[in-house]
Amino acid sequence: MSVTFHIEGNPTGAFDAHCYETDTTLGPVVGYDAIVALMDAHKAECEECAAYGIYSHAIMDVSDEQDVNVSNMNARVLLNALGRHADGDEFDLCGSLSGEDFLGRVLLALATDRDDSGVASAVVGGSALGQRGATMIDCGLPAGYFAERFGALHALAQEATRLGRDVVWS
Ligand SMILES: [Zn+2]
Repeated sequence: MSVTFHIEGNPTGAFDAHCYETDTTLGPVVGYDAIVALMDAHKAECEECAAYGIYSHAIMDVSDEQDVNVSNMNARVLLNALGRHADGDEFDLCGSLSGEDFLGRVLLALATDRDDSGVASAVVGGSALGQRGATMIDCGLPAGYFAERFGALHALAQEATRLGRDVVWS
């Protein structure tokens, strides 16, 4: 499970679809019916997509190049640092703020001293701890993680502010 921070976009009405088997992109074409026709034609030629499906993707009017994707656990830590207190409920991992508001929070977080020396990975559950079930590993955090992630969120927030859009996460 992960959370992506992105700039709110509006659909352009165009769609594309990507086949990972042949690494080809269908479209972009305007209109959902048009991409469905292309996907149907592709499935007639591609066993992988015929068996597992191929999914259309609505093209938005903002780039997704600056999207920041993090694990749920790390999203919680980042959102707490941004003053968006997320408790254990997954629902709290969805939200939005205006670009300006988000940018201000990121700048505050960047200016706040924090221990960014990293967290070693550790076994947090499973037979190694005398528990039943799968071995659970907390992957930890590399040193400099917060600086790197807040740097990426800063770039995202600046672009959202420039476009007058919200930053959305889910
Ligand atoms: Zn395919």
